Amino acid sequence: MTDSQMHPSHDPDMVVDTSGMSNDKRAAMEVAEAARGGIVEEPSFAGEMFDGRFRPDLVFPFPPQSDDERKIGDDLIEPLFKYLETHLDPEEVDETRTIPQAVIDEMARFGVFAMKVPAEYGGLGLSQVNYNRVMMRFASLCGSTAVLVSAHQSIGVPQPLKMFGTEAQKKKYFPRFREGAISAFALTEPDVGSDPAKMATTAVPSEDGSHYVLNGEKLWCTNGPIAELLVVMAKTPPRMVRGREKTQISAFIVEGQWDGIEQVHRCDFMGIRGIQNGLMRFRDVRVPAENLLGEEGKGLKLALATLNTGRLTIPAACTGAAKQCLSIVRRWGGTRTQWGSPVGKHEAGRQKLAYIAATTFAMEAITFLVSHWADRGDMDIRIEAAMAKLFCSEHAWDVVDQTLQLRGGRGYEKASSLAARGEEPFPVERMMREMRINRIIEGTTEIMHLFLAREALDPHLRLASDLLKRGVPLSRKLAAAGKLVRHYAAWYPAQWVNASLWRTHSEAGALAGHVKYVDRTSHRLARALFHAMMRHQSRLELRQVLLGQLIDIGTELFAMSATCSYARHEAQRRGDQTPIEVADIFCVEARGRIENSFSRIHGNATRRNNRFAKRVLSGDLKWIEEGITWIGQDE
Ligand SMILES: Cc1cc2nc3c(=O)[nH]c(=O)nc-3n(C[C@H](O)[C@H](O)[C@H](O)COP(=O)(O)OP(=O)(O)OC[C@H]3O[C@@H](n4cnc5c(N)ncnc54)[C@H](O)[C@@H]3O)c2cc1C
Repeated sequence: MTDSQMHPSHDPDMVVDTSGMSNDKRAAMEVAEAARGGIVEEPSFAGEMFDGRFRPDLVFPFPPQSDDERKIGDDLIEPLFKYLETHLDPEEVDETRTIPQAVIDEMARFGVFAMKVPAEYGGLGLSQVNYNRVMMRFASLCGSTAVLVSAHQSIGVPQPLKMFGTEAQKKKYFPRFREGAISAFALTEPDVGSDPAKMATTAVPSEDGSHYVLNGEKLWCTNGPIAELLVVMAKTPPRMVRGREKTQISAFIVEGQWDGIEQVHRCDFMGIRGIQNGLMRFRDVRVPAENLLGEEGKGLKLALATLNTGRLTIPAACTGAAKQCLSIVRRWGGTRTQWGSPVGKHEAGRQKLAYIAATTFAMEAITFLVSHWADRGDMDIRIEAAMAKLFCSEHAWDVVDQTLQLRGGRGYEKASSLAARGEEPFPVERMMREMRINRIIEGTTEIMHLFLAREALDPHLRLASDLLKRGVPLSRKLAAAGKLVRHYAAWYPAQWVNASLWRTHSEAGALAGHVKYVDRTSHRLARALFHAMMRHQSRLELRQVLLGQLIDIGTELFAMSATCSYARHEAQRRGDQTPIEVADIFCVEARGRIENSFSRIHGNATRRNNRFAKRVLSGDLKWIEEGITWIGQDE
C-alpha cells in the first residue's frame, strides 16, 4: 500500500479511527458505521451484559404467548400445513428444482405472502412470534419453500415497506402481497458480498428529479427471477462531507416487469434447489422518484434495520429443522440395533441425542424470546437478533451433522432412494444440504462476529474514541482522558466486586446456579473485553479470533439466560419439571464451551496461524498440494 492510498485525516464523526486505513478499507468502514443504528435509548439485554451489567429482569419471566395470540397463529398453521403436507413433496422440489405453481397459488390464497402485512392494508398482520411459528413449520417440511417465503417476507419488500415506506407506497404496494405478489431483496453483486461499499449498481437522478436511472448487476437474488417487486440497493451520487466524498447507498422499490431488467442466469445450489435465485441485470431502468424507499443515502441503514427482525427467520427455520432432526434420531436411535443395543443407547449415540434435544430447546428459547422482544417494539434487539442468527445457524449445522452420523449410511442416502427400497424416507441428506446456507446468508458467521464485536465494544469506543484516534487536538484528548479515568475508576473495580457475589437469582428456581454463573461471567467477559481493548487499542478490530471468542462467550451466556427462563415457563405451562432438566443439560454444555473459549483467549496459536496463512497465500506451501488433478486456473 502506498502513502497516497492512506487517508491522512480521520472523520471526526466516526467513533472508529479510519486514518491509517487504505481507501478501500476506510470506505468499507465508513459505510458500515453509517449504517449502524447509532445511540439507541432502548435497553438491550446483551448490550448491557457486554458492559458488565447482567439484567435478569429483561429475561425473566419468559414472555408468554396469550391464548388469543396463539389461536391467530394456529388458525393459519393448521389448515395451511394440512394442505402443504399433502400437496408439497420436498424431495420432488429438490429433484426438479421447482415449487409447483399450484402450491404457490394456494399459499397466496392462504395469505402467506401477506403474513406480516398490517391488517389495515389487507394483510394477515401476524406478530413476529406467530410469523416465526409459521416459518419454523415451513423449514421442518421443505427448505426451498421456507426460503421462498422468507426472502419475500423477511427481507423482500414487505418488511422495509412496513418500516420505512410512505403512506402512498404502503397503499400502493401492500395490497398486492395479499393477492400473491412475491418480492425479493437485491443487495449482493459479483464484487459486493460482505462489503457493500464496493457496490457498482448506480441510480442516477434525472435532471428534472422525476426519476432515477438504474444500471448494474445483482447476484444471488432469491426470488429475483419470479419477483413482481424488488427492493434494490444502488449507489446514488456521493455527498460531500468536509471536502470528502461520502458513498451514498439508497433503496428503491422496483417492479420486476419494468423495461431494462434482464434475468441473466438462474443459479443452482447444493441445497434449497427449488428456489428461484439468479444473476439479474438492470440496463437504464427508469425508477420513479416516488419509489425511493426511505431517504437517499439511507439504503444500507434500511437494509440493516430490515435484517434486525428479518434475520430472526433464520433461527426459526433452524429450530424447525433441528426439531425434525430430534424426531428422526429419537425414532432411529431407539430402533436400529447394532452390537446388541439400539444405536441411541451406545454412549456415543446417547451423547448425540442429549446434545440434539437440549440444543434444540435452547434454539427455540432464543428464537421466541427475541421474536417477542421484536413484537414489543421497545427493546433494542440488534445484538440479540444477530446472536440468535449466529447461535442457531452454527448449532443447527452440528445438529444435522450429528443426526446424519447417527443414521450412518442411511443419513447419506437420498430419501427417494430409501423409499424406493422400502425404508423410512428420512430426508437427512437433503436437510444437510439445505441447512448449510444458514451460516452464509443474511450475514456470514464471520460478519456476525464483527458486527457483534462492534456493538459489544460500543460503550468503550465512545468513551475512548478521541484518545485512540490520530489527529485529535490535545485539548480534546485531555478532556477525553479525564472522562475516561473518572468512568473506569468506578466501572473497573465494579467488574470485580459486584452484586453477582451475593445475588441469589431466585427468579430462576432450580436453575439459579446457572444464572448465577451467567451473572458472574458477564463481569468476567466485560473485563476480558476491556483488557483486550487496552492491550490491542486501535488494532483490536484486527484480532478477529479473539473478538470472535469473546462474542461466542456472550452468545452462549445469552443462550443460557433465555433457556433457563424458557424452561421455567415451559415447566409451569406443562406442569412437569422435564424442561428444567433439559435446560440444565444445555447449560452444563454451554458452560464447558464458555470456559474453553476463555482458555483459548491467551493462546499463541492464532498468531502462529496468521503467519502461516500468509505463506499459504504466497504459494510457499504449494508443494502440499502435489499429487492431485488440478481444477481451474492457477495464476
Ligand atoms: C442461496 C443464496 C441466497 C442468497 N440470497 C440473497 C438475496 O436474496 N439477496 C442478496 O442480496 N444476497 C443474497 N445472497 C448473498 C449472500 O448474502 C452472500 O453470499 C453473503 O452476504 C456473503 O457474501 P459472499 O458470498 O460474496 O462472500 P464474501 O463476502 O466474498 O466472503 C467470503 C468469505 O470471507 C469472509 N469474510 C468477508 N469479509 C470478511 C471480513 N471483513 N473479516 C473476516 N471474514 C470476512 C466471509 O465470512 C466468507 O466466509 C444469497 C446467497 C446465496 C448463496
